Amino acid sequence: MTIPTTSVSGEPASRFLGRPRSMLIGAEWRDAASGASIDVRDPATSETITTVPSADGVDVDLAVQAARAAFESSEWSAARPVDRERWLLRLADLVEAHAPQIAEIESLDNGKPLLIAQRVDVPSAVDFLRYCAGWATKLEGTTVDLSMPGFRRNEFVGYTRREPVGVVGAIIPWNFPLLMAAWKVGPALATGCTVVLKPAEDTPLSALRLAELALEAGLPAGVLNVVTGYGPVAGAALAAHPGIDKIAFTGSTAVGKLIGKAAIENMTRISLELGGKSPVIVLDDADPKVAASGAANAIFFNSGQVCVAGSRLYVQRRVYDAVVEGVSAIAAKMRIGPGLDPKTQLGPLVSEKQLRRVADYVKVGIDEGGTLVAGGQRHGERGWFHQPTILAGLPESARIVQEEIFGPVLVAAPFDDVEEIAALANGTSYGLSASIWSNDLKRVHRLIPRLKAGTIWVNCHGLLDNALPFGGYKQSGIGREMGRAMIDLYTETKSVMMMH
Ligand code: NDP
Repeated sequence: MTIPTTSVSGEPASRFLGRPRSMLIGAEWRDAASGASIDVRDPATSETITTVPSADGVDVDLAVQAARAAFESSEWSAARPVDRERWLLRLADLVEAHAPQIAEIESLDNGKPLLIAQRVDVPSAVDFLRYCAGWATKLEGTTVDLSMPGFRRNEFVGYTRREPVGVVGAIIPWNFPLLMAAWKVGPALATGCTVVLKPAEDTPLSALRLAELALEAGLPAGVLNVVTGYGPVAGAALAAHPGIDKIAFTGSTAVGKLIGKAAIENMTRISLELGGKSPVIVLDDADPKVAASGAANAIFFNSGQVCVAGSRLYVQRRVYDAVVEGVSAIAAKMRIGPGLDPKTQLGPLVSEKQLRRVADYVKVGIDEGGTLVAGGQRHGERGWFHQPTILAGLPESARIVQEEIFGPVLVAAPFDDVEEIAALANGTSYGLSASIWSNDLKRVHRLIPRLKAGTIWVNCHGLLDNALPFGGYKQSGIGREMGRAMIDLYTETKSVMMMH
């Protein structure tokens, strides 16, 4: 087992990784009831860095019971909004105080460049927890003037209350593990819910660190539980558990559908943030250099393991060659390496399974008639690296154009008329996001309403803000996280009518 001993903070990741980790149920750090565990591997070397418990239905049931007991406890249910705000702020402060160590854990566990973990994952999670803390004291119902026939207006008072939905089961993916945990835990705690969080089997570590810090922040036991385990076992048990009031899921559309089906049996509320195949649309007035740099970042950031990755590049013909050559030049120069190497621009993929999936898709793309413009191969023999790759010349019906790959693989195609681009951009089953590169406001404004996607960027791609709702059209999901919209996902509305 190789564990780096360096740390920017003097608090090494090895202090966290030096022993098998346990999961948090109620106030207790526990192993799985079955005793089974999962090896956690460093994607840059494929070596095991620690182990976590492999939870099954028994452990999930205990965690749900702990979350239910906490939800009904007077300590949590009687806590004032300002108390929940304070807990969240304390948690955010603690994550910030330990940011260097957490970033290192995240980089080791997921493979991402340390700089990304330091500049994006950890600060975004801190900011989001603080944003959610602010919401705790701003939850409001409405008063309603009633008009029932046969009664005088002043005989009644009508109003609505926002109440926490209850026990939340949160199932998160491996691409931004800490941030995805924050996206679920933040609004749940702000609204007064309690949580059972299941991180991805490949990246469970930052969620366990977050749980340690939540206890340190004084959060009552059972309010946040973390169960580590395999999706089809622990995740499925959580989604089907009758004691869960809401499932918040981020991951693949295929698993999102399984979760939705399991949840409907118990009428469990669901929010699903699923896959994407986002188009990057470059109109011919755009500066090709700027557009190429934006398009490269849209697909290669986090090795393409991003739900909003700009994996389809459509460029108006006059600037097509310049933009595609620009993206290829950037791809050719990217420094591929382990996340902890400060020179690394493109880290490994998260797992061997994901590397195989990406390599298979590239092969399928070539078999479907695609021409390799850049990359196309696994990088090196050790670890799970793949070259940044660009294919062109594919029909729109090709699998590699239609299906989410979740790797550094871009398909490029020219188009002639702005009138045809909306149909091309909307031509997959997904609808998470799209970007338009142009300064021609008239054309941009005509295009925005025609794109079936939850987020549209203009002259940028992939940027998110806590105050802007985020979620997908079509098969990219149900519900909107972040912004005011997230409150709807974690609360029930109760209507009250009072005669006096
Ligand atoms: P999954 O959708 O399988 O994983 C997401 C989460 O769901 C993980 O915690 C996983 O656990 C869990 N899970 C898996 N199966 C079940 C189940 N039957 N019931 C309940 N929970 C389950 O994504 P993968 O990790 O397999 O990645 C495959 C593809 O999914 C990627 O290539 C990408 O296309 C897409 N994806 C999209 C993401 C997004 O942000 N939209 C994020 C991640 C993946 P475990 O990790 O143990 O399997």
